[in-house]
Amino acid sequence: MTQSAPQPYEYRRRELVEPDWTRLPGWRDVTREQWESAQWQRVNCVKNIKQLRAVLGDLVDERYYADLSADQEQFATMSMLLPPQMLNTMVPFPTDTAPGSWTEAFYADPIRRYMIPVASDRRTDWPSHPHSTRDSLHEHDMWVAEGLTHRYPTKVLAELLSTCPQYCGHCTRMDLVGNSTPQIDKLKLTLKPVDRYEAHIAYLRAHPGVRDVVVSGGDVANVPWRNLESYLMRLLDIDTIRDIRLATKALAALPQHWLAPDVVEGMERVAKTASRRGVNLAIHTHVNHAQSVTPLVAQAAKTALDVGVRDVRNQGVLMRGVNATTPELLDLCFALQGEAGILPYYFYMCDMIPNAEHWRVAVWQAQALQHDMMGYLPGYATPRIVCDVPFVGKRWVHMVTEYDRENGISYWTKNYRTSIEDSSTEELRSKRYAYYDPIDTLPESGQKWWRKQLTAAA
Ligand code: SF4
Repeated sequence: MTQSAPQPYEYRRRELVEPDWTRLPGWRDVTREQWESAQWQRVNCVKNIKQLRAVLGDLVDERYYADLSADQEQFATMSMLLPPQMLNTMVPFPTDTAPGSWTEAFYADPIRRYMIPVASDRRTDWPSHPHSTRDSLHEHDMWVAEGLTHRYPTKVLAELLSTCPQYCGHCTRMDLVGNSTPQIDKLKLTLKPVDRYEAHIAYLRAHPGVRDVVVSGGDVANVPWRNLESYLMRLLDIDTIRDIRLATKALAALPQHWLAPDVVEGMERVAKTASRRGVNLAIHTHVNHAQSVTPLVAQAAKTALDVGVRDVRNQGVLMRGVNATTPELLDLCFALQGEAGILPYYFYMCDMIPNAEHWRVAVWQAQALQHDMMGYLPGYATPRIVCDVPFVGKRWVHMVTEYDRENGISYWTKNYRTSIEDSSTEELRSKRYAYYDPIDTLPESGQKWWRKQLTAAA
């Protein structure tokens, strides 16, 4: 094609590069063998400010650590847990290593902005939306057995455990996942894992209309492999289950786990059984920025495909300051699709949990991003941006039924009942469910309206 004007987005292939971890003072002497060991990665996870300082040395000013400490005390809904692999993707190719020289780049880094947020990242006007809640998707309300959410007619979410090898600041399951923080006392799973899993299997056997199980948590990379394999094999024994999806951010945050020989061999056994029984076995991961897609991540995804997993797909989360621009989203999608064998599948709008307003985008902004992403990627690899509407479920952002832009309230409908509803089909079809834009994105008249609502409710 001959063209004189540049396209709004110019694609150029970029090969993946593993950032050099020895640029970090605390890992100057770490060997490749250590780096590629899942055990070394787990043992050396960064869990607190002291450990972060030990890795970064004097590259980042004290100002950042004070800001981080203030956030942990006043706002954080998740505790800190960073595998070295993930920390190594922040400020990946610095030009300077003088004391303090990383401070600004570290503040601006997209991975840092959601994995180790600081108090100054949060909004002071509207840190939380008035309708934000701890379990914003009401997954817990829809448990049919401990950890088993039945929200859609044919699919369930199975939360096997409440931990992950990494904790994301924006986690939608902040109610349950991870350690308690000064702000959030977490809900606890109470059954022994063996009893929880037994209850899931019993429910699925008794409900042949459920054909699709998202096996999640937390992150399945924290389930001891033997237990996970046994759970998956029991699912595969139920002949009404036709899709199994394993949810693991660790594929990108700790690819070493998915490359460990015992895990690869176990996945091969599970994938072979799934293939024999005609079940679609897939891995769903959670990557939010192209910086996270490194050769080791690509190797982990390709290894899963080589042993017979049908597909590896990405479900990212759309967040301001992280990826909410068209070039950032397309760069990520091309890295996933073109270099790592991971299908860009969804971007979720960040859910309405407390203290998340600085990350959330408005529905109209998500619609504009969806529009601007069209036409660059193969159609089957063009991700859908979805809004997970409370009591409804995922809706493509263009499916909004009615939208009050002034006050930032969108209305959505649905065509099925969740496990906690008993309405007639007519009631179901006529009911509208609300979702709310971040108030700081509204015109002044809308912001004033919300201030008035809050004063009236006080
Ligand atoms: S990996 Fe998923 S479940 Fe775990 S903290 Fe991150 S968003 Fe939450």
